[in-house]
Amino acid sequence: MNRICVYCGSNPGRSASYEAAAKQLAATLAQQGIGLVYGGASVGIMGILATEMLAQGGEVIGVIPRLLVDKEVAHPGLTELKIVQSMHQRKAQMAELADGFIALPGGLGTLEELFEMLTWSVLGLHSKPCALLNVDGYYDLLCAFLEHARTEQFVKPEHHAMLLSANDAQTLVAQMAGYRTPACGRPRDAEAR
Ligand code: AMP
Repeated sequence: MNRICVYCGSNPGRSASYEAAAKQLAATLAQQGIGLVYGGASVGIMGILATEMLAQGGEVIGVIPRLLVDKEVAHPGLTELKIVQSMHQRKAQMAELADGFIALPGGLGTLEELFEMLTWSVLGLHSKPCALLNVDGYYDLLCAFLEHARTEQFVKPEHHAMLLSANDAQTLVAQMAGYRTPACGRPRDAEAR
């Protein structure tokens, strides 16, 4: 993997463990020579992740819509900051630039972004791994809900299995590197997107 896209909170969250996990993920990516693609902001977990990645000598590409440049305060020191016109363009660019997707703890935006990539994978529009970094059990309830959705037969077991999860960055990145798309998720015509 050359680059991983990380979705995460524009807030720092309540616990210091979220900041620590963002820094550990940055160190893991930088040490492995994997570049970071993210939303380009300097606030919250997003800012902590990017700043640490730069401090470790890593490559950071931010993609931010013009309307959020001031609101989320675009990060000033990135390797590259791409300013786009819309939220949809932001997500599409981030998806193009990355070889896999991780959600650190975050809010509605983080969830929406990860689940869009997961549903694209289920539909066979890409074959890149999607993963949760489950810091201190932050995503336990979400994982339990997805199991419920599988039990209730709204999510197929093979689609449920396409969402990787681990408690620490090194284990998660290793899982992603070994990810092979199941037959149900093989890429179809990308123009169907
Ligand atoms: P949050 O997890 O809600 O703190 O948001 C994390 C990031 O996702 C922030 O940069 C938000 O601006 C961004 N975001 C929220 N909704 C969307 C969306 N529909 N498309 C792209 N980015 C979004």
